[in-house]
Amino acid sequence: MIRDATAQAARLTAARALVEDILVPAEAQMDAEDRMPDAARAALRAHGLFGLSIPEAQGGLGLTMEEEAGLMLVLGRTAPAYRAVYALNSGGAAQILLRAGTEAQRARWLPGLARGDLIACFCLSEAEAGSDAAALQTTARRDGDGWRLTGRKRWVTNAPEAGMLMVMARTGGAGARGISAFAIDPNTPGVSVQPTQQKMGMRGAQVADIVFEDVAVPADALVGAEGDGLKLALAGLDKVRLHLAALSAGLMERLIDEGRRHALARRQFGKPLAEQPVIAALLADCVAEALAARCMALELARARDDGTLRPADAAAAKLFATEALGRVADRVLQVHGGEGYMVGSAVERLYRDVRLLRILDGTSDIQRMVVARGLLG
Ligand SMILES: Cc1cc2nc3c(=O)[nH]c(=O)nc-3n(C[C@H](O)[C@H](O)[C@H](O)COP(=O)(O)OP(=O)(O)OC[C@H]3O[C@@H](n4cnc5c(N)ncnc54)[C@H](O)[C@@H]3O)c2cc1C
Repeated sequence: MIRDATAQAARLTAARALVEDILVPAEAQMDAEDRMPDAARAALRAHGLFGLSIPEAQGGLGLTMEEEAGLMLVLGRTAPAYRAVYALNSGGAAQILLRAGTEAQRARWLPGLARGDLIACFCLSEAEAGSDAAALQTTARRDGDGWRLTGRKRWVTNAPEAGMLMVMARTGGAGARGISAFAIDPNTPGVSVQPTQQKMGMRGAQVADIVFEDVAVPADALVGAEGDGLKLALAGLDKVRLHLAALSAGLMERLIDEGRRHALARRQFGKPLAEQPVIAALLADCVAEALAARCMALELARARDDGTLRPADAAAAKLFATEALGRVADRVLQVHGGEGYMVGSAVERLYRDVRLLRILDGTSDIQRMVVARGLLG
């Protein structure tokens, strides 16, 4: 649903300028330093992107899913590490607060997240709980009115700059029903951020482990009912998956531009590569897949807005778009030949970056399971 076509058109025009004038020129620096340049961060804040779907009442843009998907098609045309920093603020943590938080919890966290003053971290995965999130072992045990948290969360995006933590911890027995959600201040004694391995891409969106050592957590940090944590975390996945499908379509379009530019400029055998039918066919396949992902993302975003989205369809869109993105990145690197393999080219960077999208927020295999369950029961 587009609430105001003129406002959406203005948003897209502003986003195109942001991508071309600020974000793309800063990509190489961000990759080299593994840190988002200050000017880029300031521009993302000025455009309100930390508050994409946080309601306007809490200082966000309050975008519908169709508006957000349209915007991500544009914002996808640059390094996805930017998105990993700003979009997580309106992602899992904010969605849980919006779905189940009290007025006081929303008032405490959402305005800071929407402005980008606070950075949200979503703390679900652990060493023994990846795809099987229900196996997590971090525990929260009752202590008077409040709780004591102990455990280690692995590979938490944005952990080094965390301003709020949405932590899934076990408050009851084994399995999904024993897990609760807590909104925690990372400055609480006993919380520490610990370095982890280097990533192959997505540099600029830093990842670290977060350790909880007998951390005293007040009663009002529990979000939603005890035992509802994993249900709440999973309830936001349709939205994330459509967001990633749109992002992937935007990334494909960027890669196609890179491939087109190179194919027209590079001459071999006395003519531009673009005149070799094999090269033209590689790029044509990319165009078809990017278009399919774009259409899926927009169509399903409208379905989510009108309440008819099926979870299996959101999973299918994420599966198709991220897998197609992998194929497109591979073909476009091939079109670049050796230059595409050399460190420092945009294609080399994007090739490393986009690989993560087939792993995050449910790997492709997990999406296939969801799609198959929708079909077969
Ligand atoms: C850079 C990065 C950032 C991350 N950021 C966060 C974050 O901010 N917060 C957070 O909580 N987590 C985060 N994660 C963790 C991420 O969510 C997990 O990596 C992901 O869920 C997959 O889990 P895993 O890596 O343990 O793989 P595993 O679950 O061990 O899976 C390994 C392989 O087996 C396959 N597989 C597993 N189970 C099945 C099955 N039943 N059927 C078929 N195939 C199966 C998987 O598809 C995969 O190919 C991050 C990870 C990375 C790499």
